[in-house]
Amino acid sequence: MPSIQPGCLWVVATPIGHRDDFSARAIETLRKVAVIAAEDTRHSRPLLLHYNIATPLIALHEHNERDAVDAIVRRLQGGESVALISDAGTPLISDPGFRLVRAARAAGIRCVPVPGACAAIAGLSVAGLPSDRFVFEGFLPPKAAARRSRLQELAGDARTLIFYESSHRVAESLADMRDVFGGEREAVLARELTKLFETVLSEPLAELAARVVVDPDQQRGEHVILVAGRGEEVDERLAEGQRVFAILREELPPAKAAKLAAAISGAPRKALYGSGE
Ligand code: SAM
Repeated sequence: MPSIQPGCLWVVATPIGHRDDFSARAIETLRKVAVIAAEDTRHSRPLLLHYNIATPLIALHEHNERDAVDAIVRRLQGGESVALISDAGTPLISDPGFRLVRAARAAGIRCVPVPGACAAIAGLSVAGLPSDRFVFEGFLPPKAAARRSRLQELAGDARTLIFYESSHRVAESLADMRDVFGGEREAVLARELTKLFETVLSEPLAELAARVVVDPDQQRGEHVILVAGRGEEVDERLAEGQRVFAILREELPPAKAAKLAAAISGAPRKALYGSGE
């Protein structure tokens, strides 16, 4: 049983699918605080009712976070205990809450984590990719040019890369990852974790990108995409790309030489641009 001290902000994880992935401490905390700040009160109500949590709810979402933060901090300063939840998983992880936690801490308010489900960590725990060092990238930019440019920046990272993606962009994002990281890079699509149609597919990016096109069911639901970090084979591609770039650079402007060298070697263009300059 948690003892709910007055004037604390409790940051409470909720399930990402399976309702039972809700810790006893999380449930008890939500029952005992004075008020729960929820991303979407209508979304959270059925889960809270299921666990007999009758605590009043207030809204804290990305559109009102600035205004809501001041009011919540005042309540905390007045000695009320407040819990923060998001629609699913851990608040602040691709979810609202950062401004509130920052403001609360700046005001000297104690912030207490009540940890639980997080899709990125759940995906990593079953992906079979190196988990000693990883980087969480959240959602990629929705526009193709910005997305590709972000991926180019990550192409040389040796750590496992973790992305969130929505069902209507998963095919596009996997195709861009294949083009930028190379089709042979190992990847995992972790879909609908803890839910009825949970699937975890491990394949090289070229096959994964093709599979979601031929099997649109794989585009349904919620996805975590995990991609192995740059390995030695990528170093070899890069070395080859740099060699070709150096030759072409003798005759061509650098942008054109980099584009052709990238196409010939499979090395990321941005990694070549500047390498021979
Ligand atoms: N705060 C959440 C967390 O701790 O994981 C993430 C919230 S973010 C708005 C929602 C995204 O998380 C989805 O678009 C999807 O990429 C990922 N996600 C959430 N639940 C998932 C699940 N059950 N299976 C796979 N991915 C999931």
